[in-house]
Amino acid sequence: MIALGYFAISTWETNRAETAQRLQLIKMTDSFVSTFTDARGDGAPVPATFRRMGIEHFTASKTDESSVIGTTVRMPGLPGLEMQTREQDPRLRRIIQGFVNNAELSQLHEHRIENGRLIGRTIYPSIAYQESCVTCHNARFGEGTYQIGDVMGAYVVESDLTAITTRQGYYAIAAFIAAFFVFRALASRERNRMSNVLNGLRARVRLEQQKTAAEAQAKFLMSHDALTGLANRSMFRDHVQQTLNEQLGSGVMIALVDMDEFKAINDTLGHAAGDALLVAVAQRLTRLADTADGLVSRLGGDEFALVLRQNDVFMSPAEVGRCVLAAFEETVLFEGNAIQPQCSIGVALVDDIEQASPTELLKAADAALYAAKAAGRNLFQIYDEKIRISAGRRTKIAAELPGAIANHQIRVALQPKVCLSEGRLFGFEALARWKMGDEEIGPAEFIPIAEEIGLIRLLDLEVLRTAASFVADIEATSGLQIGLSTNISAQNFRLGGLTEAVLDILTETRLPAQRLTIEVTESTAVENWAAVKDVLTALRRHGVRISLDDFGTGYSSLSYLRLFGFEEIKIDREFITDISEDDETLFLFESIVEMATGLGSTVVVEGIETPQQAAIVAEKGAQIGQGYLYSKPMELDAVRTYLRQQTTAVA
Ligand code: C2E
Ligand code: MG
Ligand code: MG
Repeated sequence: MIALGYFAISTWETNRAETAQRLQLIKMTDSFVSTFTDARGDGAPVPATFRRMGIEHFTASKTDESSVIGTTVRMPGLPGLEMQTREQDPRLRRIIQGFVNNAELSQLHEHRIENGRLIGRTIYPSIAYQESCVTCHNARFGEGTYQIGDVMGAYVVESDLTAITTRQGYYAIAAFIAAFFVFRALASRERNRMSNVLNGLRARVRLEQQKTAAEAQAKFLMSHDALTGLANRSMFRDHVQQTLNEQLGSGVMIALVDMDEFKAINDTLGHAAGDALLVAVAQRLTRLADTADGLVSRLGGDEFALVLRQNDVFMSPAEVGRCVLAAFEETVLFEGNAIQPQCSIGVALVDDIEQASPTELLKAADAALYAAKAAGRNLFQIYDEKIRISAGRRTKIAAELPGAIANHQIRVALQPKVCLSEGRLFGFEALARWKMGDEEIGPAEFIPIAEEIGLIRLLDLEVLRTAASFVADIEATSGLQIGLSTNISAQNFRLGGLTEAVLDILTETRLPAQRLTIEVTESTAVENWAAVKDVLTALRRHGVRISLDDFGTGYSSLSYLRLFGFEEIKIDREFITDISEDDETLFLFESIVEMATGLGSTVVVEGIETPQQAAIVAEKGAQIGQGYLYSKPMELDAVRTYLRQQTTAVA
């Protein structure tokens, strides 16, 4: 725009100057012609130079007096031969002489600063083109001075360009300044725009980076465990599938690792210790998996899984089991405590199963793990034919059990609890019985399955209802007041409403609450103490007795005894199986009895099979005994007979 403006102004100014120059030339030419005519008379030819300059054209142009600029025209003759005008400037005189010497020169343009002004000057040679010119000039300077074609002088046009040049200079400066400011404004606007664009871009890049990081994090968390950073179950399955594909379904092993007594560590040393233990185990297992291009996953809680390829290190599933056990040997240090991690392991090799799929391989490893846990702790089991059969049996039981419970096929057997000193009946323990088809299945087998499939609440309450109704019926018909113990599994305490359910059954069967003893195992109490305590306290408030079953197995936390003050403590059968007079176990037994009685609990000893055992435990202070010595668990009909015999005997 500015350039255009400057160009327009400058062109206009130049045109104006040229027009003015032309006007002045015309004016001067007019006066020159009239002077010339005066001197030569009308009709004398106008000098050729004038024609060359297009006088006719000038004459035809518009005239405007106001725009005349300082232009002068003069026609000096040759130096020394001047007709009318003698050129004053010696330099110009030399130039005019130069035209004579050099016939090639037709004109000369120059711009010069003279007396502080810019002068634009054009000098044309004045040449004699016609005979009249020669005649006229020779008349003055003598015959033969000029021939046609000779230079006779010059025609000098001079313009003072100072004003116009100055103005154009001002315009240029103004244009430059305007351009400067405009460009500066534009540049600053552009800079701001660019900086905004850049800032926007930077912000977008930052946002994108944050988004990408967040997405990566979310993706990682979706496929990994947050605590240990190990792959989660779904990622693990994908990896197993991939490994199976790569290995063409052969030489792939899965090890399931379940930590033993992890809950106890969490409870006694706190969750931070439990977390530290999990992280340490995760690291050890990762190191192990790395040697077989494998992957470790935390499937949940304290359960880990490894998928490994058979290689030089892990030639067999047994080798995997040994290596995992070895990885657990070293203690984990946490805040000054040395924690000894332990685990049970189930290993399965894909070649030993029918279908090479992640699901089947995991199922096989799980069956092996189950067997490892059942066989005791801190050991591994390899999936084999035996385990396949027992897993199949478990699956069958799990399929049959719901129908059996719903159709009231679970029977109740009662086993007497007897006062050791007098041999008098103290009460009965109710034990569940079930026949799957023709086969009698023991509760040790079907109770854990009922727990797994979430039916233990139904089962336990069904046993309680049947037994309570039986005992209440006896009391109603014979007046015999008989105590009843039932077993309540840990899982019941995780669900709400247990207290109400038990009390409802007591109401329904009319069994006084004082007759009922609830047996909870030590591990139940330890697993979920807060909930267990609430329910037991509530039941106790109604008069129900609470018994701590299987005492002495697992890890005994004596603090629970002190905390709750159980009405009864049942010392496990394992404890007294091999008890004899000089045994160390006897010493321990004696201490337990002493402590329990000290806390006001009645001591019941389970699994008494011989009179010797009965004598020993009675001598050491136990009050109640239960075992085959007195009676095996009896079906209800047998119990009626038993009771009749008992009352007859007492009578
Ligand atoms: P428990 O509560 O410790 O029951 C005692 C177990 O010891 C019974 O086994 C009983 O038959 C057995 N027993 C008693 N005296 C002797 C003896 O002198 N020698 C030997 N070898 N064994 C003896 P059972 O009936 O097989 O029950 C096993 C476990 O199953 C029970 O142990 C209890 O934990 C669980 N159980 C049984 N019925 C139920 C039930 O209705 N609900 C729940 N949650 N668990 C139950
Ligand atoms: Mg029991
Ligand atoms: Mg027991």
